Amino acid sequence: MKTIGLVGGMSWHSTVEYYRVINELVAERQGGHASARVTLQSLDFAEVRACQVKGDWARAGRLLADAAQSCERSGADVVLICTNLMHRVADDVQAAIDVPLLHIADAIADRARDEGWSRLGVLGARWVMEEDFYVGRLAGHGLDVVVPGPDDRTEVDRVIFEELTRGIVREESRAAYAGILGRLADQGAEAVVLGCTEIELLVRPEDAPLPVLASMRTHAEAAVAVALGDRVAA
Ligand code: GLU
Repeated sequence: MKTIGLVGGMSWHSTVEYYRVINELVAERQGGHASARVTLQSLDFAEVRACQVKGDWARAGRLLADAAQSCERSGADVVLICTNLMHRVADDVQAAIDVPLLHIADAIADRARDEGWSRLGVLGARWVMEEDFYVGRLAGHGLDVVVPGPDDRTEVDRVIFEELTRGIVREESRAAYAGILGRLADQGAEAVVLGCTEIELLVRPEDAPLPVLASMRTHAEAAVAVALGDRVAA
């Protein structure tokens, strides 16, 4: 079994889910006492968040690249950045390591193809919805992407950083997200990418008026597939 390197802590509320899901999947597949070989670097999210707010992506890239190198030195055969947004610095991270980075958008695109979805809505931090590094990567896989309108984008981003990344899950926000998902369905989305690794702690499949593609779970599943030799990382 290969060793999975996790660059996490962004926030730790979703990193703990990566760790849990990866181990559950390995146990299901291998049986007995089997568990995943994992090395984790958990960053201080306050430092990463400060870089985001300042737009200092170069410093953020260095923080994540250093963490990825630590994973590699600890034996990682594949590295995951455990957040959608911080894939904004994925190229810096990949350039710093010799093992493959398993890109979250590639895992999502593979799942969409398996499900037969070609038009996806995307919810996430505002940069995820508004910049090209994420939706452009999905489009590069032949997917058509729709994002919420400006007011809905503001609300999605606010809930992520005022609530979810602080471990707060509110009924009102769940209802607000359900409304936003419905409007993405009106824009022709066949499914919606929960493109922030904490959103799946808020929106469960039964809360959504259309299918959802949960980024944390999908990324964790892809990591296990790599670790067990079912797929290659890049
Ligand atoms: N976990 C979130 C994501 O998947 C946002 C936190 C962050 O990385 O800033 O995008």
